[in-house]
Amino acid sequence: MASTIDAVPDEIIYKIFAEIKRSNSPLVPCLLVCQRWNRAALPYINSIIVLYLTNLSLFSTSFNPTHGPLVKSLTILISYSTADVDVYSQDSTTIGNTLGENLLALSPILPHLINLTTFSFNIPPFSSALVNVPRDSLAALVDNLPVSCVNLEINTATSDVSASSIDGKHLCESLRHVLPRMKNVRIHLGAMCSSTFGHGPVIGERPENIDNFTPIALLEMESLLVNCQRAMYCTPLCGSDDPSSPVIYERSNASAWSSLYQALRCLAQKEGHCQASAKLYLMGAVARDTRDSSKYNTYTRDDVLRETTIATPSRMVWIDRHSCLLRTLDGRELMGNPAAIMQIAEGELWRSSIDGSRIPASLLQKESKGFVAKLFVPEVVPPEILRTSEEWREEYPKRACTLWMNEKVTGMRLLDAEERGRSDVFSPQPVVERTPRGWQRESPERGRLTRED
Ligand SMILES: [Zn+2]
Repeated sequence: MASTIDAVPDEIIYKIFAEIKRSNSPLVPCLLVCQRWNRAALPYINSIIVLYLTNLSLFSTSFNPTHGPLVKSLTILISYSTADVDVYSQDSTTIGNTLGENLLALSPILPHLINLTTFSFNIPPFSSALVNVPRDSLAALVDNLPVSCVNLEINTATSDVSASSIDGKHLCESLRHVLPRMKNVRIHLGAMCSSTFGHGPVIGERPENIDNFTPIALLEMESLLVNCQRAMYCTPLCGSDDPSSPVIYERSNASAWSSLYQALRCLAQKEGHCQASAKLYLMGAVARDTRDSSKYNTYTRDDVLRETTIATPSRMVWIDRHSCLLRTLDGRELMGNPAAIMQIAEGELWRSSIDGSRIPASLLQKESKGFVAKLFVPEVVPPEILRTSEEWREEYPKRACTLWMNEKVTGMRLLDAEERGRSDVFSPQPVVERTPRGWQRESPERGRLTRED
């Protein structure tokens, strides 16, 4: 048998492409090697597309619509770490306005991507991006998604703002139109309301509104996570977010969490409105008590269908943004920046690849032998972003927190994530570090354990 390039199976060629991608080298030269490589590389290059602040505008003006059907996944990754423009010299509003124009220019291309299954707009936890993303441009993207798109992520890390030119445009309403066909969804926005999940007056604005609320059905939904937390408090209802005078929202009626939780409970209680196996999650947080150091900052992930909550404790160990500690329900202790830690507390329902493309974790498992998985080069998380506490302590042997000292002196594990029942949902309490029998705290503020005598 002649050993030409044609004898090499696709698997091997995809492996070569994956290695090129892993090394962060451009794939476009692969198109020019020979016809065989060109045939294999064209779908590869177009199937998973990642756009950044720097190439978004170029993509919109130069994309060849005949390649549209090749695109399976599109991620817009907004991160200064990938930008080579001088973004630091501009303010967040100027960058946001330029980004908004670029997103509006991109939206007419989306209907050509007739085989697109996954779309993500993501401001990742390792990004230092502070961009005021105009909500009307996000709505234009959602409105133009092709019907093939069943996995959706919109994560602005709460930096989205309403566009003054378009009065009253709810991103929630655009989301409501596409959610019924979605399978996997992750949303983290600066403001939201019950309009995302149904029709009628906004739940939370008046107590009686819940009686006039009609939920939509989410029959395809496998996993939905809406993050409603901002700096250990709640994001507000649509219309009550004013970036110039930020208000701290508790889990009250004025919070997005409260409005969305009641809307989703309404949906869950209606016969045949969602699958019994669906994961419908809302993410929130409880701030620690500064007068009592045994009470920890706590992320809460509420399972709306099962009415249970996972409460995950967290604390800064050192004055350094990568020194935040988290203890997970499966017993891990991780260190990282607060945004990365929060994504772990969410349950890692979406994953990043090394080039920043995003995919639901369940899809990656299901398709472990499929086309998407072959193309997907798994993530290598920069070590300063997230690591085990063993790795962190090895690097900083002199840094410690009271928890570690207390566990060492008592020889006991004193802090764990908790799974809680429904009674806790509307007034969640922070996770508390245990005080073992025979021990006492020096003072509530300092929290060091000493033997009682
Ligand atoms: Zn809304």
